[in-house]
Amino acid sequence: MTSWLSIPKDSDFSLHNLPFGIFQPAGAPPRAGMAIGDHIVDLAAAAEAGLFGKRRFFKKIFEQPVLNDFIALGKPVTGRVRRKVQEWLTRPERPAEADRLLAERRGVAMQMPLRVPNYTDFYSSIEHATNVGKMFRPDNPLLPNWRWLPVGYHGRASSIVVSGTPIRRPMGQIVPKGEETPVYSASRQLDFELEVAFVIGKESALGEPIPAAKADDYIFGLLLFNDWSARDIQRWEYVPLGPFLGKNFGSSVSPWIVPLEALKPFRVKGPKQNPAPLEYLQTRGAQNYDIELEVSVRPENGPESVICRSNFKYLYWSMAQQLAHHTVNGCNVQVGDLMASGTISGPDAGSYGSLLELSWGGQKPLTLADGSTRTFLLDGDTLAIRGWAAKDGLRVGFGEVNGQILGK
Ligand code: MN
Repeated sequence: MTSWLSIPKDSDFSLHNLPFGIFQPAGAPPRAGMAIGDHIVDLAAAAEAGLFGKRRFFKKIFEQPVLNDFIALGKPVTGRVRRKVQEWLTRPERPAEADRLLAERRGVAMQMPLRVPNYTDFYSSIEHATNVGKMFRPDNPLLPNWRWLPVGYHGRASSIVVSGTPIRRPMGQIVPKGEETPVYSASRQLDFELEVAFVIGKESALGEPIPAAKADDYIFGLLLFNDWSARDIQRWEYVPLGPFLGKNFGSSVSPWIVPLEALKPFRVKGPKQNPAPLEYLQTRGAQNYDIELEVSVRPENGPESVICRSNFKYLYWSMAQQLAHHTVNGCNVQVGDLMASGTISGPDAGSYGSLLELSWGGQKPLTLADGSTRTFLLDGDTLAIRGWAAKDGLRVGFGEVNGQILGK
């Protein structure tokens, strides 16, 4: 496939990708767009130009400030919109309306692409669960349920923000080292979690489980996700009901939703599961995705350092298994729900997806390019996660999710 539009060869946003997002052109209200190379296709303008038929209907859908109504139209419609734009971009000649439909991506303010009704966070990397277990419970790192079900908790949807939104260092109760009673303080152990989240694209009915084999029908697409975590707040509060204020002060998402269909060529088999999961969690074929992931820290006024390289394929529990388990009791899902993977750590130390693991609980500081060291994040630091899949000349990327830490 070639386009009349110049698309940089190494762009995340190739003709095979065509992710959806919400952007705000200068002096106009937010609207839906599709990323292509260094440009954005204005989908409301494309609808007006008649690219999808039913001009008024699609124009109204794409002028919404979030993608929920569009996604709810279902994959036959959203897939057709992608194909129509792809056909338009690969016409033999530059169409006369090209200038009207295209915006430069550089400098455009991206918005939160979804209204998120519900957010769930899993804990599906065996390397991460084992590493954290070793630090929090040295005698008993992997709890007995872990290999039987995808452990998760219900997170907070209201504090999910789009990439570029600063994150304020949270206040809370922490127990200083060597003491037994808490103090009210700013977190001293502010961390990130490298995660990928999937977006629910189809509602299910309360009481009706989603079988693992049908999971793909319900997964619209994927995002990069940073589950910011205050480890000191988390350590004191998490027993016995799990994560709370150490997590819900903010989570960040990348602005472009990569449709599941764009990731099809990158499906791979996941790790072997032992013991074999119960029947409702059994799946066939390749259920994981080979998506390269990279995390960097940039101190204020300093150069960037890559601190982690991992891969989405390492996950022990697949998205299909997560969704089957989430709904096995009849819990329903809604369009726009986010289900995050849990921290994606790989087998070696350079692939750990949190500073908790990279600095081994603060015992092994990391040295950055400017010579400064980190155990956890400092005020002014910008943390970025990037992700992409590449194979045989195909490239499908996510761009990045970043956020800067603001002091109290
Ligand atoms: Mn998490």
